[in-house]
Amino acid sequence: MFTYEEKVPLTILQLEALIRRLHPNHNKIPAIKDDYNNRLSGYRGEKSLQYYLSFLPKNYKIFYGLRLPDSEGRYFQMDILMVTPKYNVICEVKNHKGTLIFDQNVNQLIQDFNGKQMAYSDPIVQVLRQRIQFHSFLTKHKLPIAPTEILVIVSNPHTIIKMEPSNHPNANNIIRTESIPIKTEKFEVKYKKDLLTPTQIGKMARYFKKFHKPLQTNILQQYQISESEILPGVHCPECLTLSMKRSKGYWICHSCNYQSKDAHMDTLKDFALLFNRSITNKECRQFLQISSIKIATTILISLEVNQTGGKKNRAYDLMDLLK
Ligand SMILES: [Zn+2]
Repeated sequence: MFTYEEKVPLTILQLEALIRRLHPNHNKIPAIKDDYNNRLSGYRGEKSLQYYLSFLPKNYKIFYGLRLPDSEGRYFQMDILMVTPKYNVICEVKNHKGTLIFDQNVNQLIQDFNGKQMAYSDPIVQVLRQRIQFHSFLTKHKLPIAPTEILVIVSNPHTIIKMEPSNHPNANNIIRTESIPIKTEKFEVKYKKDLLTPTQIGKMARYFKKFHKPLQTNILQQYQISESEILPGVHCPECLTLSMKRSKGYWICHSCNYQSKDAHMDTLKDFALLFNRSITNKECRQFLQISSIKIATTILISLEVNQTGGKKNRAYDLMDLLK
């Protein structure tokens, strides 16, 4: 089994950095923490699926969070894509708590939790659109197309599932996590013939890898937070305050006296997550709160990352630090 993009999604890391770098009393902190918790529970839901997916036959290739451009260049993201010799499956994972009502009449998903109702777009409509886009991607790159099934997986075992109307035409496509192996056995019976060879599946995997582009959002713009609201400085790994000062090659915490040689690494990661993928010497000094050009240069060179620009405007690529 081949897995892909299992690392923590970038948006979750960005939200963590944002919460770390805003004043604790900032008025947007509660909303940001809500979004963060929602994304984290969605991510955990997907992680918990991996146990059930491990029961699938070894020749199933499974891709997580694949984000590809369709034939018109519009990106679409699939929570899980399974490619097998006989068929493909696109899965949308829902981790909502409480009661989920799949309403076919008006194509919406309603969550009933703690006496509050929230409406979301219909995940069945979402995966049907993803299937059209997925097939257009395959056609564009002259890759083989096997029939593609769709599934909406409710990953929270305590969630109550309801259908509206009760004879929902897509009821068979909405399942709980533990039913995945049973469902795929049914697909195996439905699609008897092998349509894709291992070589063809390998080629598809290479194309997915080549065209996959993780969504990168400007998190400050999204929450309408100005750069000046982001607190600079180096966090102490021990007491988490922004109290570290550089002295004789070490970072020393002025709050708890903890010493570190590389506490600046997390600070530079925060810079990449919140501002820009590359950093100049001047930006580095400002964000790490140091005055010496020479020390900033030593730190930046020690990262051993790609550099662009000349002597005056040299920038250091920080993306490798996030990998
Ligand atoms: Zn400290």
